[in-house]
Amino acid sequence: MRFLAKAARKSPWIYRINAGSCNGCDVELATTACIPRYDIERLGCQYCGSPKHADIILITGPVTVGVKDKLLRVYAQVPEPKVTVAVGICPISGGVFRESYSIAGPLDQFVPVDVNVPGCPPRPQAIIEGLALAIEIWGERAEAAA
Ligand code: SF4
Repeated sequence: MRFLAKAARKSPWIYRINAGSCNGCDVELATTACIPRYDIERLGCQYCGSPKHADIILITGPVTVGVKDKLLRVYAQVPEPKVTVAVGICPISGGVFRESYSIAGPLDQFVPVDVNVPGCPPRPQAIIEGLALAIEIWGERAEAAA
């Protein structure tokens, strides 16, 4: 089991949730996925299509009232030990939308956040740095849980 945890440490699955973003941060996430110059797969990780397969969750957007319950339902489907990354200033503080009637609150009011990547939107390099930190945290948790 320990061997599997060690091997898995090199290849986490990542999953993206849009919690009400303007899509600016999502475009930057697409940049890290599609443009070879920023390719995040060189870190050993890969995007997956189901929260049930994910190890690391990247969340963009300011958590709108309409999306909050759906976000929590999807988040609960990600198996432990999961690591959460807030991408952009919106999930960290609400960003430019924080005074809006349609914002439920910063992401860390609803789920534990392990890594913050500030910026509006953050540069691809900052996302890669945040993801590298998340992979390290996830690897330690996976090994401790094995
Ligand atoms: S941080 Fe900026 S770019 Fe990202 S979702 Fe918020 S407003 Fe859009």
